Amino acid sequence: MNISVIGAGQMGNGIAHVFAQGGHTVTLIDIAQDRLDKALATIARNMDRQVAKGGLTEDHKQAALGRITTATELSSGVKNAELVVEAATENVDLKLKIFQDIDAGAPAGCILATNTSSISITRIAAATRRPGEVIGMHFMNPVPVMKLVEVIRGYSTTDVVTARIMDLSRAIGKVPVEVNDQAGFVSNRILMPMINEAIETLFQGIGGVAEIDTVMKLGMAHPMGPLQLADFIGLDTCLAILRVLHEGFGNPKYAPCPLLVQMVTAGKLGVKSGEGFYTYSGGSKDLVVAPAFAK
Ligand code: NAD
Repeated sequence: MNISVIGAGQMGNGIAHVFAQGGHTVTLIDIAQDRLDKALATIARNMDRQVAKGGLTEDHKQAALGRITTATELSSGVKNAELVVEAATENVDLKLKIFQDIDAGAPAGCILATNTSSISITRIAAATRRPGEVIGMHFMNPVPVMKLVEVIRGYSTTDVVTARIMDLSRAIGKVPVEVNDQAGFVSNRILMPMINEAIETLFQGIGGVAEIDTVMKLGMAHPMGPLQLADFIGLDTCLAILRVLHEGFGNPKYAPCPLLVQMVTAGKLGVKSGEGFYTYSGGSKDLVVAPAFAK
């Protein structure tokens, strides 16, 4: 299948990786060539890790990398696509514009999927002339490792399109779960209020960064504490998702914690910027609490 992936950030490179490894031809699209070069280097590095662990042969790796090409022009990047998966920045206006452009450039019959974490699929679909063929295909981070794909049906998404995305997800080794369309779907409807509450607990001085994460790891059997997970997702993405929930349900319980807003304003975005609740200057293996929260 010819698949175009829009956005070569942490999710886009993972999505390109798993489709190419699954035998599909991938066109990875971003606004600047240096982001695409960085994404290709990340994919190669992650595949090297799979080879070292015995999960992939060197020949398969080379073949998969050979199936990925890049483009900085959306219209040329989607013109032969049978499926487009959009994984650009979590911003409603940006996504609506991208979907208008994909709709104009992709051939008839092409399925238009979005990896959005929270934005209504129905709203995105309404920006196109083919709402029946628009669907949520929500991969989890890191994409090559995490099994779940949350498949979100918009108001008009057809049964045929849903079945094709469920089958495709299984064929690349994922476990798809079908859900309906409301802000945050199932995953972030539940996860983001927990992350927001962890930040609020820190903000009120009830516990420190390490204490909050340790309570949730050792007490609730979470593999990662909520503050570390927020760093990993990206604090800008967490904030954007909370705003979608807040606006979508009109319920003050989803209002983002002022500390989260302040950290994003200060450019502290978590792993991707080198600092969030923890600092990542020495990599992300050893957890070091960021200076702002050190006691
Ligand atoms: P990111 O910031 O790492 O990457 C976003 C990429 O989109 C950047 O490379 C940027 O250059 C590119 N981009 C921006 N405008 C573009 C345009 N007009 N055309 C093409 N590319 C464009 O973000 P991310 O974490 O990869 O998130 C991407 C999407 O995936 C968001 O919708 C996010 O909500 C969703 N998502 C994120 C996670 C996570 O854990 N980070 C998990 C699931 C879903």
